[in-house]
Amino acid sequence: MNKEFIDKSYEGNLSREDIIYALNLSDSDDINQLFSISNDIRKKYCGDAVHIRALLEISNICRRNCNYCGVRKDNTHVSRYKMEEEEIIEIALKLNADSFKTLVMQGGESEAFSPETLARIVRTIKEKTDMAVTFSLGEHSYDDYKLWKEAGVDRFLLRHETANKELYKYLHPDGILDTRIEALNNLKELGYQTGVGCMVESPTQTIEQMADDIEFIRDFKPHMVGIGPYIMHEDTPFKSEKNGTREMTLKMLALARIVTKDALLPSTTALASIAKDGQKEGLLTGCDVVMINFTPAKYKYFYEIYPNKKCMTEDPKNIVKKVTDMIHSIGRTVATDHGHSRKIKK
Ligand code: SF4
Repeated sequence: MNKEFIDKSYEGNLSREDIIYALNLSDSDDINQLFSISNDIRKKYCGDAVHIRALLEISNICRRNCNYCGVRKDNTHVSRYKMEEEEIIEIALKLNADSFKTLVMQGGESEAFSPETLARIVRTIKEKTDMAVTFSLGEHSYDDYKLWKEAGVDRFLLRHETANKELYKYLHPDGILDTRIEALNNLKELGYQTGVGCMVESPTQTIEQMADDIEFIRDFKPHMVGIGPYIMHEDTPFKSEKNGTREMTLKMLALARIVTKDALLPSTTALASIAKDGQKEGLLTGCDVVMINFTPAKYKYFYEIYPNKKCMTEDPKNIVKKVTDMIHSIGRTVATDHGHSRKIKK
């Protein structure tokens, strides 16, 4: 591997040319060296602790028609659900009793819950537990984001999916990249720990377009980054497209770690769904977060953004045990703090 690239990586100072060089690496020793650099950077800036987050998919109702997503509005093969307010709070209390420190509330982009209802749910959770709350609920108005921040939401994940305008339009026929970025800027301005992220090897995506994502991540300076492979879903316009690969997803995770240094970086379920040891490999490539799905079984099957999700059939408690064992097996520890962004003091 090019010595200049190695030095620049350790400085966290990669240009577009460096990023393209890394994405094009094909020799397995070079690729392993890239992963080893990103793991060193993880160790230096993030330490060995892995943060386990509890994920709750509160609704699969969505007003959007993203061309890759199994819960897109026009998919009539999926039953729609919305969890009850009391049910969400009850699960949050149980997770808190089980020592979880973060609840991630994810859902389609919709008005299934009014902004006030979501604010009320969060206020109750914050009053009755000491958990951090993350929202992952799509694009909403500045005023709604403000309301939820004031109610106590700590973090907001809004993956940009691709930082290339043409590809964004191809993936999201009813979306505009500039609007997405404006929403991300609003979240940051309001003081959220803000998460961006992208899909790897989405249909027609080129290496240049992947470099756009890493440059966007480098320049936006997010608190969190969610990166996973594109996975084909039968009930979408992209039903004949190929899945993203393990290797390219790991390269993108490695580059995200190198350019952000200290961002919270989940080893995603999507990666685990395409590669047997994907989650472990993600942790060995610089990731420091794992999310475990606690959506009740009666709903979980309908939140199928992509098929064959790794977490579908197994009891989450078994998954927690397996993940904990896996974390220990690679010499890492499970974090006991809230795992807030390292860019803020809490
Ligand atoms: S990716 Fe998100 S916004 Fe797009 S259709 Fe799926 S749930 Fe809705």
